[in-house]
Amino acid sequence: MLYWDYAAAAPPYDEVMETMEQIMKLHYANPSSLHRAGTEAGKLISRAREVCAGVLSVRPDEIFFTSGATESNNLAIKGAALQYAGRGRHIITTNLEHPSVYESCLQLQKMGWEITFIQPDHTGTIDPLLLAAAIRRDTVLVSVMHVNNEVGTVQPLQAIGRIIKEINPRTLFHIDGVQGFGTFETSLREWGADLYSLSPHKIRGPRGVGILYVRQGITLFPLLSGGSHEGGVRAGTENVAAIVASAKALRMTNERRKDVVARILPLRNRLLQFINTVPELTVNSGDYGAPHIVHFSYPGMKGEVMARKLEELGMVVSTRSACSSKHSEPSRVLLAMGKDAATAEGGIRISFGDAHTLKDVEALEQAILKAVKDLKPAEGGRK
Ligand code: PLP
Repeated sequence: MLYWDYAAAAPPYDEVMETMEQIMKLHYANPSSLHRAGTEAGKLISRAREVCAGVLSVRPDEIFFTSGATESNNLAIKGAALQYAGRGRHIITTNLEHPSVYESCLQLQKMGWEITFIQPDHTGTIDPLLLAAAIRRDTVLVSVMHVNNEVGTVQPLQAIGRIIKEINPRTLFHIDGVQGFGTFETSLREWGADLYSLSPHKIRGPRGVGILYVRQGITLFPLLSGGSHEGGVRAGTENVAAIVASAKALRMTNERRKDVVARILPLRNRLLQFINTVPELTVNSGDYGAPHIVHFSYPGMKGEVMARKLEELGMVVSTRSACSSKHSEPSRVLLAMGKDAATAEGGIRISFGDAHTLKDVEALEQAILKAVKDLKPAEGGRK
């Protein structure tokens, strides 16, 4: 089996697994306990916070650990909305966002907030001027993702950040950085980011842990009530092993970023070119998108059918993001890009990791050709 679903979950580095095991064996004490074993565990968290802050070029007290990027996104959006409701109840986001952002906004909408969903162009890119036109005096938050998790489009974060601060300096800018870290440089200061979410398990770290950067001076309304962990922003006993291993994964991924991109970009380009030669398939991801994501559709064929066929042929792919793949309706992201329903429900996402080789891509191409050939005669039986 060849695994092509790194954007859903990437295999942890060996060093990450070793760190997890070692810390669970040696440092199981509660980091809030006052005894020595507890304070040692607490120091490990502080050190991990410093490492993450170093990688992101921010202050350690601006780093918060959560249970995953889903929680980081929920906390950033709802925590800011609830905390700053006195400033206004208007939020801007896009139709491209991951469900953890999109559904958080819909939930706030039900609770009385006004949400403006910005429409992307046909490539899946947000026009900063369109977003600028939506900013108002009562806009408390703008949330835009760095790289789209389905098609890999990259958003012009610096232009968006600059425009927000020019029009309304009190509007906070949240970036869902989950799919961008590891393939693009992270420049929180240049982007003007106030809040930034990361998911360690997408960058070969552990699952069940997330990172949220909160710029100094910003307060978030806590979504969980309990102890005073994480500066009172996120109650709950910290997962020391996962936090330390996340810091390791963040640092390793950052150090390897340029080499990994140099290796996978030609592979991605080759695959894109190949898919373009198959008449039955339509490429949805752009040449200038993220180097680790290729997205195509077999219009009229459900993505699940194609994905199952490819799995029979030894290729593990995904239909869109893992969080949305159990929904059978067409992709919200592809529809927002102006694709028709047949294309939007026939999507396949291939996502690369650092272990992939040219031989793997050649094998994938052969499997795609065979899948198309095998599924094609079922013309009348297309689902
Ligand atoms: N944001 C984006 C863009 C994602 O791709 C994902 C996961 O697929 C998430 C957020 C949620 O991350 P987690 O799995 O850590 O909750």
